[in-house]
Amino acid sequence: QFITFEGGDGSGKTTQVRRLADALARSGIEVVTTREPGGTPGADAVRHVVLSGAARALGATMEAVLFAAARADHLALVIRPALARGATVICDRFHDSTRVYQVAASESDERFLDRLEDATLDGAFPDLTIILDVPAEIGFERARARRQDAVADRFEADELSVHESRRALFLSIANAEPERCVVIDGRGDEDEIAADILAAVEDRLGL
Ligand code: C5P
Ligand code: MG
Repeated sequence: QFITFEGGDGSGKTTQVRRLADALARSGIEVVTTREPGGTPGADAVRHVVLSGAARALGATMEAVLFAAARADHLALVIRPALARGATVICDRFHDSTRVYQVAASESDERFLDRLEDATLDGAFPDLTIILDVPAEIGFERARARRQDAVADRFEADELSVHESRRALFLSIANAEPERCVVIDGRGDEDEIAADILAAVEDRLGL
């Protein structure tokens, strides 16, 4: 089974990926956790490029293609082989993040991101996508606190309106694909959110 976690910066994805992986592993399931951009040496090299400040010079199309290239490598070397041997793969961000973050690339041609997605995924859609949803103010505050720790990347927006529009895009994906997506309220305490996610995974995937 292939599970992805999505949501804006500061929504708590990384913590909850670890919580779910631990819970599934405790019940004897082989779990592979990974993240995007990255997950292979080549994709990690792309991550380094696209997240750096220097990458502000990249055009929107080039940026989208680089994320897609990293994803293709990640699918071929990590995700497909793990699924093929029966492991459960949990990925911290996947194609929905491109739909939300690389929107500028599609402004000139609305179908550009769709075509890129088709070519890159070649049918490897997640079985379940957990969308961690927090009000824009919360994501904004958490991302800002992180920026002060100097681990922020160039996509972590310092404008509330950007968090708001990304949140709306994630929710519209969930609306359009209710059989794949579950929206989880990311405001509560960590244990409660982890329990909500585990319940959704059991309910949707029978794990
Ligand atoms: O999940 P994490 O915050 O580590 O992701 C790294 C950064 O890459 C994030 O700021 C995210 O917004 C950005 N990103 C992106 N497009 C993607 C995936 C991630 O801009 N397709
Ligand atoms: Mg981040």
